[in-house]
Amino acid sequence: MIRLGQAGLVALFVAGCAPQLPEAGSIVSEQQAADAAAHIHDDADAFHESIAVFDSHLDTPALFHTDDYLFTERGSWEEDGTHVDLPRMNEGGLDGGFWVIFTRQGPLDEASYAAARTHGLMRQTAIREFAAKYHEEVALAFSADDAERIIGEGKKVVFQSMENSYPLGLDVSLLEHFYIGGLRMIAPVHFANNQFADSATDINQIYDGLSPLGEDLVREANRLGLVLDGSHASDATVRDMIALSTTPIILSHTGATAIYDHPRNIDDALLRELAEAGGVIQMNIFGGYLEQLIPSPERQAALNVFNAEYGASPAGLEDEALATWFAARQELDRDFPRPRSTYEKFMEHTFHVLDVIGPDHVGISGDWDGGGGVDGMSDVSMLQKITRDLLAAGYTQEEVEKIWGGNMMRLVRAADEARTSRLMSPDILN
Ligand SMILES: [Zn+2]
Repeated sequence: MIRLGQAGLVALFVAGCAPQLPEAGSIVSEQQAADAAAHIHDDADAFHESIAVFDSHLDTPALFHTDDYLFTERGSWEEDGTHVDLPRMNEGGLDGGFWVIFTRQGPLDEASYAAARTHGLMRQTAIREFAAKYHEEVALAFSADDAERIIGEGKKVVFQSMENSYPLGLDVSLLEHFYIGGLRMIAPVHFANNQFADSATDINQIYDGLSPLGEDLVREANRLGLVLDGSHASDATVRDMIALSTTPIILSHTGATAIYDHPRNIDDALLRELAEAGGVIQMNIFGGYLEQLIPSPERQAALNVFNAEYGASPAGLEDEALATWFAARQELDRDFPRPRSTYEKFMEHTFHVLDVIGPDHVGISGDWDGGGGVDGMSDVSMLQKITRDLLAAGYTQEEVEKIWGGNMMRLVRAADEARTSRLMSPDILN
């Protein structure tokens, strides 16, 4: 395995890869150093292109219902706020990943569950319609083997995950329906506590982890062969999921408390518990969880006006009022942009977690089209940068390949192999 670490320059000269070997005892010229650096750069990019690169949390399906989202045309974060499309996936060497069925949470009552169920089913349908519409460019994946085959065909991989199990209402058997439609990853909870679990970002904790219904959900996910996702879950919920699940869990977009103490991140002790159980954390490129971001005075003034008129949080709002809140907030964000974190800060989280639990338990996820992106990495078109920096830090190609999806696919395989449901298995046809 070639190592392109900090000693990379020396290694390249020894291997005779540099354009001109320096005379013994001579000082390496600036030009030679620059040429060697460019060589390392090109090697890293070629390597990045040659491996499977997956993201575990693509929120892009939230755009599918809008007529102006065109997957095969290049958008731009600066102009339209989007992160993912085919041209940019090709530029950044992204082969696909998990495309998210996200449902915003409302009240925990029967009518709201019914509305959420419809929303979830329609979002899954939208993902399947997307795959049908762009069948020459993408394909639905139901297994790790599918993903390998799809990449071999030169297409992008569309796995499905669910962020917030709220649409299942009180009926975990509905999960089987989503599974048949292709769902392979499930996160019980989102920003607020729900019927299944306590959330990392809810000020109250109801169950101190999973509710009894949440435990049923974990068992059902294991039975069907889905990967369980503890992102957004409280630490106690993550611990319950690790203890109860028969297969390793993933945190599909999460960061390190040691770098920024935010409820959406986890501390070193929980990182170790996750890794000891075979789990994987996918490092999130979401600015607000990477560091404390201070709004500009102009934005703060606009926020004060907004808070007085609409309320600081959408919690408790329903229907029209909820939609109005988000529309007004979007307008404010457009006029007075949120402060941004940096690519360097994201890598600080990533290197910290790699130091604590090693490259077998770490992956990458940008929260693309879900609020992700930082200065220095605004969309998926520049993912090579991460590969260059991991190699330069001394991680081997084998390790970088695991980080870009090998670890995540290990969990997809593990969930599938532990499946006890006979659904979708060949013997059901006998
Ligand atoms: Zn999220």
